[in-house]
Amino acid sequence: MINLTRERGGILDRVWDKVGEVLGGVCEEAWLALDEQGWNRSGGTLTLRGGRIWTGDPARPWAKSVVIRNGFIAGLDGTTTEGRVIDLEGRLVVPGFQDNHCHPQTPFVLFSPQAPMLFACTTLDEVLEEVRRYVAATGSDRYPRFFGWMSPIFPPGVRPTRQMLDAVVADRPCYLVHHSGHEFWANTKALELADVLHRDPPGLPRSCVIHRDPATGLATGYTEESEFANTDGVLLRSVRKDPPLTLPMQALALRYVLEEFSRQGVTAIWTKDGDFSVIDVYEKLLRHDSLPVRTILDVCHTPFGALNDIDRQVDRAARLRMAGLPPGFLRADGAKLLIDMPTDTHQAWLFEPYADGIGGCGFPVFDADVRWEQARRADLLGLTLNFLAIGDRAVDEALGLLERVARENPPRRRRHCVEHAEFVRDVDVPRFRQIDAVPIFNWIGAYPNQAYQEKFAKIMGEERISALYQRWRDLIAAGSPAANGSDFPLAPPDPLAGMHVMVTGKNLEGEPSGGLWPHKHLSIEQALRTYTTHGAYARGEELHSGRVRLGYDADLTVLAEDILADGFDANRLGHVKVSATIVNGHVVYEDFSSKPKTFPPHPRG
Ligand SMILES: [Zn+2]
Repeated sequence: MINLTRERGGILDRVWDKVGEVLGGVCEEAWLALDEQGWNRSGGTLTLRGGRIWTGDPARPWAKSVVIRNGFIAGLDGTTTEGRVIDLEGRLVVPGFQDNHCHPQTPFVLFSPQAPMLFACTTLDEVLEEVRRYVAATGSDRYPRFFGWMSPIFPPGVRPTRQMLDAVVADRPCYLVHHSGHEFWANTKALELADVLHRDPPGLPRSCVIHRDPATGLATGYTEESEFANTDGVLLRSVRKDPPLTLPMQALALRYVLEEFSRQGVTAIWTKDGDFSVIDVYEKLLRHDSLPVRTILDVCHTPFGALNDIDRQVDRAARLRMAGLPPGFLRADGAKLLIDMPTDTHQAWLFEPYADGIGGCGFPVFDADVRWEQARRADLLGLTLNFLAIGDRAVDEALGLLERVARENPPRRRRHCVEHAEFVRDVDVPRFRQIDAVPIFNWIGAYPNQAYQEKFAKIMGEERISALYQRWRDLIAAGSPAANGSDFPLAPPDPLAGMHVMVTGKNLEGEPSGGLWPHKHLSIEQALRTYTTHGAYARGEELHSGRVRLGYDADLTVLAEDILADGFDANRLGHVKVSATIVNGHVVYEDFSSKPKTFPPHPRG
């Protein structure tokens, strides 16, 4: 069993442990005892020299030293130094990594502390064994919640049942969230406690389906829906016995999670979930001068005609801008709009039917008039539209909506995103460029493990899957400003691991042996751009971020090895260590303990 969650020093384990500490009783005093970091209010002053700096700037791709003053790049290749001087000893400096699709608050909002993630389980028995082990090790006052099971653990046509879970935990409520976040699997106790075993709750949205036994009318234990927070928040809220976390506790937990992003060299994130309530948590960290990444939040999510709420959220976001907070650290001006859902539940919307004959061509989440109204209003409000579009028909639809808002809404600067874009037709490739839309891929999640991949191939067909990776590769090779996201906590927030997949066509274990696509891999520089220059472009921040250029934000990542040197072996890419992460001129993470690996002098200097 390949365990994605245990890779690279147990990135997700560390997050879980830390968040568990917070949930396990560290309270407000711990928050108050935290030192202010001073990362946000005023920029730092620093000199880096003695290595190589890849600037991402075509006009001046390389430098040997950089001076940072008050949070901005103030000098390249100068002879003087300012502030703390860091001797790179041959290390490589690149623009700070940007993770433009992630959900850092998910671990502490939704799941039991230290509960194992279930992505890596390839059979039903493995899932049940993980649940059994956790339940045995925790007190009966805990109602365990798990995350990450994948549909291929069931044969085609078989759905999870409450009885399967009852066999391992019957005495207390327990539920398991699908890795997509949009399907739920509950035991009988959980269904009883939520009072849905016998009948649907009043006001259940159309897109939320509590599957029932046709003979008895009882809930089977399997629930589908198109909006994460809804089932969790409305349907199963009663299952969550833990008291709600206070705002300081949430902020503390978030900071622990973001520390892990810093450890992986990430300097900027974009949460693509539209969980508007977390704005308070991010704002608290920022007010405490302790937000270690530049953050964009999607302020709204438009699941069940919740359009009425957009105005309130946009108003709240506008007040955030006027709140006198340090600029450049927290924006809340994205809108997540759903077109379709994941493939493994046959909910991705396709032009051609699924290969396994189930689910036809999938379906869109909303009717056409609702989709248009959501896009029209969010665009009118000046938000960046982030369409979740997985199937090729959904991508076509997202592009069509973007073309239409540009045509029918008043002119303004627009750069919207298409999230995941797993299946893109040839004819749709140039449309991204024409309307300046940016695809956000999730390369690190491209290959969870072989068993998953085999079942994925059964659902989608081999040909369509190999075309997926080839298309992503081709788009980037052709110069599309495609950016990247980890989709954390679905995968570790680890850009180097994502680049490893892009460049080698294999995961960190070297699978699949033949590579995900037949030939012509991306260069390390092409992969690096998706996390740096293209990331900044996707955010509309390319005039001050994503490059090491005079006057730009001083957000940098220092790598222990020069991954751009000619002698560098690309198969090591995912194993390279981050030596330091610099945000706003402040070192927010550093570990210079691993000796720099140097290579013969580089011809390009
Ligand atoms: Zn996501």
